[in-house]
Amino acid sequence: MVARVFIVVIALVAGLAPLSARRQPAATRDALILITLDGVRWADMFGGLDTGILRSTLAKDARLEDSAAYKRFNAATPAERREMLMPFFWKELMAKHGSIAGNRALGSSVGVTNTHRFSYPGYSEILTGEAHDDVIKSNDRIQNPYRTVLEELRERLSLPAAGVAAFGSWEVFNEISEHTPGNLTINAGYEAFESRDPAVSELSRMQFQTPTAWDSARYDAYTFYLAMAHLRAARPRVVYLALDETDDWAHGGRYDRVLDALSRTDGYLKELWTWLRSQPDYQRTHILITTDHGRGHTTEDWKTHGAKIEGAQETWMAFISPAMTQRGEWRNQPELHTNQVAATIASWMGVDWTAGRPGVGKPIK
Ligand SMILES: [Zn+2]
Repeated sequence: MVARVFIVVIALVAGLAPLSARRQPAATRDALILITLDGVRWADMFGGLDTGILRSTLAKDARLEDSAAYKRFNAATPAERREMLMPFFWKELMAKHGSIAGNRALGSSVGVTNTHRFSYPGYSEILTGEAHDDVIKSNDRIQNPYRTVLEELRERLSLPAAGVAAFGSWEVFNEISEHTPGNLTINAGYEAFESRDPAVSELSRMQFQTPTAWDSARYDAYTFYLAMAHLRAARPRVVYLALDETDDWAHGGRYDRVLDALSRTDGYLKELWTWLRSQPDYQRTHILITTDHGRGHTTEDWKTHGAKIEGAQETWMAFISPAMTQRGEWRNQPELHTNQVAATIASWMGVDWTAGRPGVGKPIK
């Protein structure tokens, strides 16, 4: 009898976290979607079309008013312009379901803590909660030297490999997303995606028929729709969606295409949100949307970013979570940092990422 009680107690203590996770009925389970939009400036997020930058990209004798981007996205005020650019994000997501920090005009700042201000260090800071400036200092395809919060969530929630998935347009997400190869389901860069659905197989095949100009990144449409296919088929609890086009179009000086990419992304968010709301097992889904770095502020340096570019450390962060009640824009608050993303998304899933990790950022409440 004593022995039997002892065994029960041990089993309860040992299995506490996974047990409580498993006990949650499918209809009310927590799910998490992390989304990053590469190198999107806070000025563009909060102010929409910047006419000074657009003009600087046009031919000397061209009229601003004749440009397609101006016709599509110009309006009188920053609030109107951003709603032209991302109507669903502003009028639905931020108005009714979530909030966004990083509008410096309102006293809300978000920034990276790494000093490099480019992609791999930014994404690693997002996924590990810490900058490692001496170790992570290039965009090379190096396996992440540090365990990521995605791997931790898989282990702590006792999920299968398909239950935690990363879909990225940039191929380096194969390495950034996990410390231990094979821990997660990853589809990034030009990579085939296997599916029994003929339409999804065709989509996977087409990515190789439509090369971008950027070598290491495919178009975001493939990344998004393959992620949606995985959501529908495998019902993952944790998905990381890493979109890229905003950064590559900016490096190429195509501000009009940056705006196009943001506009398309708004459509993806609408499609994702509509689908999540229609699925009984995704009713409690937490979404965090952010970027890996900013870019320059001026018509000279908006295309670029890096340690020497003023503004490249400035970012933004949006939260759509049943755990948060705030709506709309954050105002007058202490600066938030990219190194808080890992602990924040982990806390939404009932996991403490800060325990035993003194260097990581604290959860945002
Ligand atoms: Zn980047």
